[in-house]
Formats: sequence, C-alpha cells, structure tokens
Amino acid sequence: MENFVFHNPTKLIFGKEQLDQLKTEIPASAKKVLLVYGGGSIKRSGLYDEVMNKLNEMDVEVHELSGVEPNPRLTTVHKGVQIAKDENIDFLLAVGGGSVIDATKTIAAGAKYDGDAWDLVTRQAPAEEALPFGTVLTLAATGSEMNAGAVITNWETNEKYGWGAPVTYPKFSILDPTNTMTVPRDQTIYGIVDMMSHIFEQYFHQPTNAPVQDRMAEGVMKAVIEAAPKLLEDLESYEHRETILYAGTIALNGMLQMGYRGDWASHNIEHAVSAVYDIPHAGGLAILFPNWMEHNIDHNTERFKQMAVRIFDVDPTGKDDREVGLEGIQKLREFWKSLGAPSTLGDYDISDDQFDLIADRAMKRGAFGNFRTLEHDDVLEILKKSL
Ligand code: NAP
Ligand code: FE
Repeated sequence: MENFVFHNPTKLIFGKEQLDQLKTEIPASAKKVLLVYGGGSIKRSGLYDEVMNKLNEMDVEVHELSGVEPNPRLTTVHKGVQIAKDENIDFLLAVGGGSVIDATKTIAAGAKYDGDAWDLVTRQAPAEEALPFGTVLTLAATGSEMNAGAVITNWETNEKYGWGAPVTYPKFSILDPTNTMTVPRDQTIYGIVDMMSHIFEQYFHQPTNAPVQDRMAEGVMKAVIEAAPKLLEDLESYEHRETILYAGTIALNGMLQMGYRGDWASHNIEHAVSAVYDIPHAGGLAILFPNWMEHNIDHNTERFKQMAVRIFDVDPTGKDDREVGLEGIQKLREFWKSLGAPSTLGDYDISDDQFDLIADRAMKRGAFGNFRTLEHDDVLEILKKSL
C-alpha cells in the first residue's frame, strides 16, 4: 500500500425520521441559510415542506436556489454564488441528489472566492475556504453526500470536470431511505450503475498489497448485485432502498480507496461524453465501462480474472486468464442490461460525429487513468467499441 491519511469529516445520519436533526446540526450561529434543490421532485414528494417546517422552527432566514439541473451547470452555480454573496448566506443546505449536492459544494467554495467559480473547477485556483453546508440526500448514486467531490458542466465550452477540496466535505448528511422511495425506475438503475462504477474505478488500481480493500470492494459489489434486481421488482421496498443507499455512500466515501489511487478513466471519458451530449452520467458509464475493461484486459489480466471469479462467480477451470476475464466483463454487460441500463451510444442516438471533440475534451487535462494511462487514440478506440 501507499502511505495514507484517512480523514472524512462528514457526519453521516442514517435512517428513518432523522430530519429533526437539522435543528442541532445547522449551527446556531447560522442566521441565513440557502436551500438548494433541483427541478421539483422534493416538492412533489413533500420533502420540501418537511424541510421548510424544520427550518421555520429555527431562528434562520431562508433563501432558495431551485432548478439545479441533472449534470449541474456553471450558470446555476453562478446564480447560487451571487445569492450567497449578496445575501451574506452563512450556511447552505442541499436537498436532492448528487447534482444538487455538487452544485452546492461549488457554490459554497465559490462564495468564498473572489474570481469565477470555474477557476476552482478547472483547478486554476485552489479552494481554500468554503461556506459550511449540509445535505439531505434523495437519491442513492454518487456518494457526494460523504465525499468532497463535485462535477460541474460548462455548456459554453462543452467541458465537464470533477473537482474537490478538503473544504468541500458536507458537515453532515441525512440519509433516510424513505426519501429515495420516489426515485423513478430509470434513475434507480442509473444510481446502481454509478455506485458499481465507483467501486470498479477503485478496484482497478495499480498492483499493490490491498487484500482488505479488494475484499471490501468485492463484498459491497456483491451486496449491490444481490439487492438491485429485488429493488427493481419492488421500488418501494424499504429494505432494498436501505441497502442500495448505504452501498452508494460506502462506494465513494474514501473507505475503499485507502492506500492506493483508483483508475477513474471511465469517469473522465463519461464526463467528456456528457459535456457534449446531455445524457445521464451513469447511462454513459454503463456503455463505456465494459468497453474500457475490454480495451485494457491485456494490461493486467490477472485483475480482470479476479473480478470475474470473485464478483461474477465465473468458473476458471480449464480456461486461460484472458478468457476468464472476458467472461466476467460479459457477465457485467448482461447484468447491467438485465437491469435495463443502456449498452451502446446508439441507445442515446449518439454516432461517431463528435468523437474527436469528445476525445479532445477527455484529454484536456492531459493523459489520464491510474490503472493504465490513456491517450487520445485509446479514448477514440473505447468510443468506437461503444457505438
Ligand atoms: P441527479 O442528477 O441528482 O438527479 C437525477 C434526477 O433524479 C433529477 O431529475 C431529480 O429530480 C431526480 N430525483 C432525485 N431524487 C429524487 C426522488 N427522491 N424522487 C424522484 N426524483 C428524484 O442524480 P445523481 O445520479 O445523484 O447525480 C448525478 C450527477 O452527479 C452527475 O452530474 C454526475 O456527474 C455527478 N457525480 C458526482 C459524483 C461525486 O462524487 N460528487 C460522483 C459521480 C457522479 P429533481 O431535479 O426534480 O430533484
Ligand atoms: Fe459517478
């Protein structure tokens, strides 16, 4: 393993009817709160009223930023930063999925930065300070509720980047599986694919001694593979919503990535695809990730074999490692297809027209991928395999 320090300061509050904790978790010193949410799902579910009731019982002035888009945009971040600066906001509360939380993180840091928040996203300037913020999560997927990362899209330049800083961890996150019951089938599927992709990104790391991390990753993955079809049979099952919600957090709160760096190339390529075509993040991952795997199978075949045998129960008897690895990748494709996830770019009517632009965007911050470094041609090849 590499040396590491693990410090995740987010307080995780998990379970039924925990909303009352807003009253103790939002610091008494906070007088002006900016409530950030999306396109209206929290109004339809009634969560908006519940949150407002709690805030109204506190001695705070509430301002609102609504309409955060899936794949949150820089223009929305700018609006939030403006409100935060104009109104002297001292605490932010994100109520929604990863998009709302990511926008909130960037607003929180942008409010404490003199220039354009895009400088922080592109890492041209470090985020040294941020307003404190908490979250009420409504969708199991990104892990953003317990990590410092945020992904923001600039539609003017067709760029979408992940960024983060030690100051962009939520102070607390309230996770009630009940609040995820209304997530529609397609978003539930995307969430499952996203969390599995996060685990894969970390599982494909440089060779190092990490048997504990590997077994943890495989265990979380198996739990997701078991629960996912059951949840899709019964979207209102508290038990399966609970399993998937917890898995999404564990998948990307740093627990699985101690002592090594994950790969993250598939996420980088997906961000480039959805910076050009506004498709759901995990829809893109479901298409790209198995093709990234096939493209890289000869790099560390043993790793793919381990995935196949331990996660997808492939029987290795009488087969060479490559065959076993390929069978594992095929099982992954079949599993995601069985859930109803897309499997080709054609499913989103994407042809090869913009492949050069996508590859340019993916390469914008240089060659990438910690398991195997990818260059422009690798990106093009993975995109072509994904048609
Ligand atoms: P999302 O974009 O936050 O939400 C997707 C859709 O689900 C929205 O239309 C939203 O509607 C709806 N929704 C959310 N909660 C709902 C509920 N309880 N009931 C009904 N509908 C609900 O989805 P996400 O997958 O969580 O986030 C995706 C974004 O996160 C992408 O931009 C991706 O790149 C990024 N990401 C971030 C990280 C990270 O670590 N920070 C990791 C991976 C991906 P409303 O808008 O109406 O609420
Ligand atoms: Fe993701």
